[in-house]
Amino acid sequence: MTCTFCQIIDRKMPAEIVYEDEDLVAFRDINPDAPVHLLIVPRTHIDTLNSLDETTAGIAAKMVLAAKRMAELYKIESGYRLIINCGRGAGQIIFHLHMHLMGGWGRRPARP
Ligand code: AMP
Ligand code: ZN
Repeated sequence: MTCTFCQIIDRKMPAEIVYEDEDLVAFRDINPDAPVHLLIVPRTHIDTLNSLDETTAGIAAKMVLAAKRMAELYKIESGYRLIINCGRGAGQIIFHLHMHLMGGWGRRPARP
């Protein structure tokens, strides 16, 4: 298994994990583009959003809800972005589904 995010989830590669539950893991992006930049990642390896279907789409709702909670925890709920890059054409470089949670502009980085 060479998937970077599967390795992080399996604790075979270090990452600053900030949240996890039975379905999801969230960790800090190694190359942040915002003062708060987290990646919310399903434990199950799904390559892109295009692979979701009626039986697996529930994970997307869980990712959004986790993002909302993380935004509250990091006190960025007044302004944040959720981004899912789908496919090389959109700049996806890690082919394990993930959502970027970005916010905290205009103030110092916050930790809960
Ligand atoms: P994407 O372009 O949507 O595939 O974004 C992948 C993101 O993963 C980028 O923002 C990278 O900085 C981030 N990334 C890559 N490797 C790691 C890693 N080992 N730990 C944390 N973030 C990573
Ligand atoms: Zn994976």
